[in-house]
Amino acid sequence: MTDRKVRVRFAPSPTGALHIGGVRTALYNYLYAKKHGGDLLLRIEDTDSNRFVPGAEDYIIESFRWLGIKFDEGVGIGGDHAPYRQSERREIYKKYVDQLLNDGHAYIAFDTPEELEAMRAATPNFQYDARTRNQGKNSLTLSKEEVEKRIAAGEKYVVRVKIEPNEDVEVDDMVRGKVVINSNVLDDKVLYKAADELPTYHLANIVDDHLMEISHVIRGEEWLPSAPLHVLLYRYLGWADTMPQFAHLPLLLKPEGNGKLSKRDGDRLGFPVFPLRWVDPKTGDVSTGYREEGYLPEAVVNFLALMGWNPGNDQEIFSLDQLVDAFSFEHVSKAGARFDYKKAMWFNHEYLINKSDADVAALFMPILAEKNIKCDVAAAEKIVSMVKGRLNFPKDLWEETSFFFERPTEYDEKSLKKRWKPESREILTNLMDILARIDDFTSKNMEDVVMKWIEANGYNTGTVMNSFRITIVGAAKGPHMFDVIEVLGKEETIDRVRIALEKIKD
Ligand code: GLU
Repeated sequence: MTDRKVRVRFAPSPTGALHIGGVRTALYNYLYAKKHGGDLLLRIEDTDSNRFVPGAEDYIIESFRWLGIKFDEGVGIGGDHAPYRQSERREIYKKYVDQLLNDGHAYIAFDTPEELEAMRAATPNFQYDARTRNQGKNSLTLSKEEVEKRIAAGEKYVVRVKIEPNEDVEVDDMVRGKVVINSNVLDDKVLYKAADELPTYHLANIVDDHLMEISHVIRGEEWLPSAPLHVLLYRYLGWADTMPQFAHLPLLLKPEGNGKLSKRDGDRLGFPVFPLRWVDPKTGDVSTGYREEGYLPEAVVNFLALMGWNPGNDQEIFSLDQLVDAFSFEHVSKAGARFDYKKAMWFNHEYLINKSDADVAALFMPILAEKNIKCDVAAAEKIVSMVKGRLNFPKDLWEETSFFFERPTEYDEKSLKKRWKPESREILTNLMDILARIDDFTSKNMEDVVMKWIEANGYNTGTVMNSFRITIVGAAKGPHMFDVIEVLGKEETIDRVRIALEKIKD
C-alpha cells in the first residue's frame, strides 16, 4: 500500500460560494499531490438536490483558475474515471447499495418523517441504531413479502447502514494520529434515498474514492465525525485494503480565536471569506471576494498555506512551487488556526512591492482608463515606482497618485496649520523664479540647484520643502518632491505654485 500512487481529490458540494476554508483544503490537497508526484481530482458532490445552488460549480472552477491551483482530472477537465459529477453517476452507486443489502450490511427502512418524529419524542437522545432499529418499519422487522409489497406499491424508502454495535473503529489520521471511536455512538445513517434514486453523501463519497483510486482523503475537521462510518463502509464493502489514508485539517477560527470562522466575521471586520465575488441567486445578496478586493492570487495562496501549516522555520514568503517543496503533514497543526486577515493584507503588500514597476503599472492602467485619464505606460511605470512601497492593494494606487493627474483643488488644513509659515509665500515666489530658470528639469539636477539656493539664502529646508509640497500635492504627503515635479514638468509645477499662492490665505 505504501507504493501506491498519490491520488487526492477536492470534493465540494455545490451549495453556494466556496468558503475560504474550502480553498485551503484544496490547496493542501494540491501541495500534497504535487509534492508526491500525484494527481489532484475535482469531484462535484451534488447528490443532495435540495441544497444544489446554480452557479456554484462554475464559481468553484473559476476560483481555482484565478488562484493558479490546477487539477489533473475531474469536472471541467475529464479523465479516466469520468463522469466526476455525482449526479451523473447514479447507476454506478446502485450496485453497491445492492451489495450492502445482500451482504446484510444495510437494510431498507420505510419510516415516515412523522414516525421518526414519534420515535425521537419517545426516547431521549434517540438515534436509529442497534438498540432502536427494532422499533422501526424496516426490512429487519417486516417480512420479506411485506417489504416487497411496499416497494412494488411505490412506497418511498431509504437504505440505512447496519452498524454492528460495540466495535472499536480506528481512524488513522495523518494530522491527529489514531482516533478510536466505539461503534455504539454511531447511528444507522441513510445511504440511499429511493425517492431521489441517489445515494447520500456518505455512500457516494466512499464509492467514488474507491473507484477513483484515491490514496489520501484530505479534508476539513468538520468531516472527522463521519470518518468512523467511512472506515466501516470500506470494511463492509470489502475495500479495507485500499482504504485511503485520512488527514483532517484544523478548523479556521475567528480572528479573535473563539469559534469557527464565519461569513459574519468577514462582514463585521471587513474582510472577504470567499475567493471571488458571489451573488446569492436566491436572495441577491452580494459578497465580495479576495479577487475583487484587490488581493493577488499568489498572496492569497501564500497566506492560506500558513493557516494551519508551518514550514518549521521562520520563512513566510513562498511561491506555490516552494510550498510544494516545503509542505508536509508533520507540520500541520491539530489546533485550529486563527484567521489573521491583517496578515493577508501584509502578504498582499509584500507581493505588490516585489512586483516589477511594469507589472504594477499594468494593474494601474485600467484604473486610469476608468477615470478617463491618459497616461502612457512609461509615465505610469515611473509614477508607480515612487509609491509602490505604500501599497496594500492596487486600488490604493489612485489615492497615492491622484495629484499627479489632478491639480489640488483644496489644501489640507492640518498640513497648512503645521507647515505653512509666515515666510512661505515669499520663499515660494522666489522658488518659482529659480525653477523657471532651470533647463534640465530632472529630479537630480533640480535637487542640486534648489538645495544650493536654500543654503545660500539661509532658508530652513523643512519650511521650503513642506510649503512647496502643499502647493503641488495639496497636503504634506507624497514621494520625493523632485521626482514628483520631474513628472509634472516645469510649466505645471510653476502653475501649481502660482495657483496655490492665490488660494492659500496666510
Ligand atoms: N462533499 C463534501 C464537502 O462538501 C466532501 C467532504 C470530503 O472531502 O469527504 O466538503
